[in-house]
Amino acid sequence: MNECPNCGSEMKKGYIQSGTRLAWVPKVSKLSIEPSLNKESVLLSNQSRFSINYVDAYLCEDCKKVLIDYSNEK
Ligand SMILES: [Zn+2]
Repeated sequence: MNECPNCGSEMKKGYIQSGTRLAWVPKVSKLSIEPSLNKESVLLSNQSRFSINYVDAYLCEDCKKVLIDYSNEK
């Protein structure tokens, strides 16, 4: 998965890093910093032993898009 599905150019592999868990949610929680997880939401991040949350992400500098693979294949 190195080619941008939008324009076909090479994507840069990296990570999105956060102090909290990262999740795709249908609605932003305004009461808590952590995303509220329910059956509609998708947890994206893994956690390192230092409680740093991260997920692999691919960057297309041409399209200004970030692609996240949350399949957890390592
Ligand atoms: Zn692109």
